[in-house]
Amino acid sequence: MPQSLSPDVRRALAERIRYYNELGIYDFYRRDVTPVADETATVNFIQPEQREEMSPRKAAVAVPAAPDENMFEVISSRPETGVSDPIKALKLIREDLGDCTRCRLAKQGRKQIVFGVGNPEAELMFIGEAPGADEDQQGEPFVGRAGQLLTNMIKAMGLSREQVYIANIIKCRPPNNRTPERDECETCSPFLMRQIATIKPKVIVALGAVAAKTLLAISDSMSNLRGRWYDFRPAGARSNDPNWTSAKLAVTYHPAFLLRDPRQKGEAWKDLQMAMKELGLKAPKKSDV
Ligand code: SF4
Repeated sequence: MPQSLSPDVRRALAERIRYYNELGIYDFYRRDVTPVADETATVNFIQPEQREEMSPRKAAVAVPAAPDENMFEVISSRPETGVSDPIKALKLIREDLGDCTRCRLAKQGRKQIVFGVGNPEAELMFIGEAPGADEDQQGEPFVGRAGQLLTNMIKAMGLSREQVYIANIIKCRPPNNRTPERDECETCSPFLMRQIATIKPKVIVALGAVAAKTLLAISDSMSNLRGRWYDFRPAGARSNDPNWTSAKLAVTYHPAFLLRDPRQKGEAWKDLQMAMKELGLKAPKKSDV
């Protein structure tokens, strides 16, 4: 039996959806529920504070199935929806992010938001943790010492920085380069998910534990996370391209960790070789690097 919602419930629903849009979440899915007499019970959103784990996978919001077809008129689409040019789409995502104050890092000394850099149609994406001092200063991810090492790793793969896309889980520098908090990752990562859905990479390399755990929504040691492929679908963000639904994701060490423990570089190279094989890349001769 079709159910209609009262103006108050529709208003509450619209406000809630605007709230999620403000967080950068636009894609919703319906959950089957048994119809109940009390219509207020049909507005049964999962509250952010009820999410179990660090879970961008759960960033998509469950909306109960309601037979009232007009109910979803209030759902606005992501600004980049239907924009096929990835340069324009990324610009729209950046504009939607604005001078973001969605989490506490906006007020903890950041100089600027570090959005991401590189080829908007890259087959390979690197995703790190958060900007450091140099990145905060220059507005570009991975430009300090760790960034130089990442650039060398990319060159060793036979690519340049301009051919790949580089971003972080969160876009503002945490004070004293502390590890980002789970809620900061959850608040910021929907924008990264939309970047990924726009770029449609074949392969993503997660750099370090924070990136790996946030993207995969699993908690495990780096040694267990490395050395295998994961099927990665950006949570809450659908690509405009129906042929692209997922990327292959591998985990390796963060370059900052490799600077502290250079003995692990060989292990990281193994991870990159896995990615090269997937992308059909051959390492350049030493004289070409
Ligand atoms: S870290 Fe992300 S969510 Fe937090 S203020 Fe910066 S851009 Fe916004």
